[in-house]
Amino acid sequence: MVEINIAEYGRKKGRFGGAGMKVFGPNELLEDVYERDLCIGCGACVNLCPYFKNYAGKTAMIFPCTLSRGRCYSSCPKAELDLDEISNMLFQKPYDGSPLGSHRDILIAHAGPAMAKSAFQAGGSVSALVTFALTAGMIDAAVLTDREGLFPVPALVTDPGKVTKYALSKYMAAPTVAGLNEGLKRGYKNIGFVGTPCQVMAVAKMRCNPYQAEDFVDPVALVIGLFCTWALDTRKLVAFLSARVSVGEIKKMDIPPPPAEVFIVETKDERLEFPLDEIRSLVPDTCRICPDMTSEWADVSVGVLEGAPDWNTLIIRTQKGEQLVRKAAEKGYLILERMAEKSLDHLSFAASQKKKRALNRAMERGLLNSPEGEKRAALRISREVIERIVS
Ligand SMILES: Cc1cc2nc3c(=O)[nH]c(=O)nc-3n(C[C@H](O)[C@H](O)[C@H](O)COP(=O)(O)OP(=O)(O)OC[C@H]3O[C@@H](n4cnc5c(N)ncnc54)[C@H](O)[C@@H]3O)c2cc1C
Repeated sequence: MVEINIAEYGRKKGRFGGAGMKVFGPNELLEDVYERDLCIGCGACVNLCPYFKNYAGKTAMIFPCTLSRGRCYSSCPKAELDLDEISNMLFQKPYDGSPLGSHRDILIAHAGPAMAKSAFQAGGSVSALVTFALTAGMIDAAVLTDREGLFPVPALVTDPGKVTKYALSKYMAAPTVAGLNEGLKRGYKNIGFVGTPCQVMAVAKMRCNPYQAEDFVDPVALVIGLFCTWALDTRKLVAFLSARVSVGEIKKMDIPPPPAEVFIVETKDERLEFPLDEIRSLVPDTCRICPDMTSEWADVSVGVLEGAPDWNTLIIRTQKGEQLVRKAAEKGYLILERMAEKSLDHLSFAASQKKKRALNRAMERGLLNSPEGEKRAALRISREVIERIVS
């Protein structure tokens, strides 16, 4: 596959047949996303202007704004998300709905001897890749996710020695993209971004040069995506846990892969297990229209490996991702192995089921490919691909 320069492509995208993304303003964002209860709180509309703020797990518009087009709308992953546009831009081919998205290789990995011992969610591959990328100068800052109490917040990190401080999964929808907007405002030119599929979709929309600017610059130098089946609504989770555990003492949360069916919360003194059935009501409905389990628009995507809690699954998608992974392994930051066929089949099946459920839900709610002239769509996918996924 020929790897292209995104900024160059962004300026000349007519060449690849992109019709251009539909961009509206903040009032349409309120109608299309907030009023339909689709906001996941990814932070893409935050830190762009004084109007949108994220507070304790919710994003809101705090003053009226009458712009007819805005970056708040153009980077929202729940408004006019056209997967052909994004796929054409990142992979130079239309979206084909394959379960795991475009990729070059799939491996298993964990942090290597060059990484200091630390607590990771699984194998520590994400922390290892970010630490190496900062150390090697591939990026000058990384946008990660921290916690204030239980509330997830973005963190902009420049010191490779501090990356592990932000390890561990905060199983909540987080306003991480606001950290990227902040990093760009501060003038960082080579930012690495770690995020869940919805956050990575927001970043991909930003990379599509939605305003077709002649002086367009790719906003990110590296994207590491996390696998995600769903996230939890922060406020609902805080309310749920506050009644059961001392929230300030929570050190780690985990949702081990099937067949575990539990949500685990660890404090310094205890380990609590909640059946997933009790937790599912805390999943926002907007997660149920997300067709992406493996962060398909990233350079490298990372998830857990079924049956091996200290390992990660690694999907290498781009040439940049490939270079990062190979060099990190060469320098001892990462240990790599091939993935067993059976694990790959399970992963593909889980990802295809998420797509199927999401498209069915989006159609049920009238959010997929709304006809021109009628309501704007949340998600756009070609008819043939929809048929292939839901059949
Ligand atoms: C909401 C959520 C749902 C997930 N669901 C699945 C799943 O269904 N299947 C699966 O295989 N894996 C899932 N994961 C990914 C998995 O939990 C691990 O993040 C991944 O395996 C990487 O492990 P690691 O040891 O390399 O991570 P670590 O080295 O511990 O690093 C974790 C990284 O994740 C970032 N992060 C933490 N919380 C968030 C957040 N809320 N938003 C954005 N970034 C965050 C941190 O900044 C850190 O850099 C999910 C993660 C999240 C946050």
